[in-house]
Amino acid sequence: MLRSIRYGEADRILHLYTAERGRVNAIAKGSRRPKSRFGGRLEPFFRLDLMLHEGRSDLCTVTGAHTVDGYADLRSDGPALDAAARACDAVLRLLDSAEPNRPAYNLLCRYLSLLDAGAGAEVPGPGPSPAAIGLAFRLKLTLAAGFSPELATCARCGEREGLVAFSGSAGGIVCASCEGGGFPLSREAHEFMLAALGRPIAELPAAPERALRQVERAIGDTLSHHAHVHLRAVGG
Ligand SMILES: [Zn+2]
Repeated sequence: MLRSIRYGEADRILHLYTAERGRVNAIAKGSRRPKSRFGGRLEPFFRLDLMLHEGRSDLCTVTGAHTVDGYADLRSDGPALDAAARACDAVLRLLDSAEPNRPAYNLLCRYLSLLDAGAGAEVPGPGPSPAAIGLAFRLKLTLAAGFSPELATCARCGEREGLVAFSGSAGGIVCASCEGGGFPLSREAHEFMLAALGRPIAELPAAPERALRQVERAIGDTLSHHAHVHLRAVGG
C-alpha cells in the first residue's frame, strides 16, 4: 500500500503497487467503520494479499484483505516511517503503469523489511547510514523503472578515462571535455552509485556526506530530464 486516502463517509481510496498488475487504485467500502472486516490493515506500507473486484470504473473494489507483513517495528519509529513514506512517494511518481514490474515490487518490499529491521535502535548500527540506504533504494528504483544513469563511460562521447562530472541532460557521468551543463562528481560518489546499482544494500561502501549529496543530485537531475519526475528530498 503506497497511499490510503479517506473518501466519503466511511471509505478509503487505496493507491497500490502490486506484483501482478503494477499500479492499481482501489476503493475499500466501509473500511473506516469501527467494525470493518478490514481492521487496521488498509494503511500505508502494509504488504497485503488483496482480493479485488474489477468493475466498470478505473477503481477496483476490495473484497478481502490479508496481511502478509505489517512492518510493526517500522510503524513505531519516526525516521523509518518518514523513509518509508518517501520511498512509496518515489514509487508513485516513477512507476505509474499497470504493467507488472517484479523487480520494483521486490525492491520496495526488501526496503520496507530493511527499515523494519533497523527500526527502534537507540544508536545507529554499523553499516550504511539511513541516507545512504535511501539513496541506494532510489538508484535501484531508477534501474527497475528503466531510467538508470550511464556510469561506465562518458554519457556523451563514450570516453572511459577522466570521468569527472555528472550531467542529467546527458543521462550519466561525463568526461572533462563534455562537462558543460553538468556538475563535478567525486570518485566516492561515482563508486557509491556503481555499488548501489550492482550490489545488495548491505554491501554499500562508506561514502562521505558530500558524496551522498552529489549522488542525490545526480539521481534527481537524471529523473527530471528523462522521466520528467521530481522526487522529494531523500531525507535521513
Ligand atoms: Zn565525453
